[in-house]
Amino acid sequence: MQLLLKSVDFAARAHRDQRRKGPAEEPYINHPIEVSRLIVECEPQTHEDILCAAVLHDVIEDCGATRDEIAACFNDVVADIVQEVSDDKGLPRDERKAKQVERAPNLTAAAKLVRLADKVANVGAMLTDTPIGWDEDQILAYVDWAEAVVAPCREVSDGLSDRFDAIARDVRAFHEDQKAEAGG
Ligand code: ZN
Repeated sequence: MQLLLKSVDFAARAHRDQRRKGPAEEPYINHPIEVSRLIVECEPQTHEDILCAAVLHDVIEDCGATRDEIAACFNDVVADIVQEVSDDKGLPRDERKAKQVERAPNLTAAAKLVRLADKVANVGAMLTDTPIGWDEDQILAYVDWAEAVVAPCREVSDGLSDRFDAIARDVRAFHEDQKAEAGG
């Protein structure tokens, strides 16, 4: 519990100046908290190290934290998981997205769990807090891409896989409708 709260504190400070991309402009920290909550709801036996990694999963990619810093503050297990799920921001967006699909089958089970919960949260946001400026085609393409990343991660959690399928279905139905309305 102590380590988990430490990770929340660390991530909240690291993300302090960031907002989510939706109109609600939610504080960014809401996202990693949601990701760790999804994991513990679907897989209550999950080790605290993995929950910490879920809370910290964007601090390397988005805040410039380093693997070694996380290892020093937490431990190597936490640091390695966060490193595994971090995109290289030096690459162009499309390349990063392609790499995520490519790398997903080779992730460790812990990283797959974080990856899966991350996609449940991000696809869910397409319903509750759609990123500003995204059109229907972009949103639907995002769900397709998320599904490709999720495919090899499903084996680690039936519960999270079911949550992903349910939310992906709802997001597709909603935005297909919006698209049809806009077209007609
Ligand atoms: Zn994330």
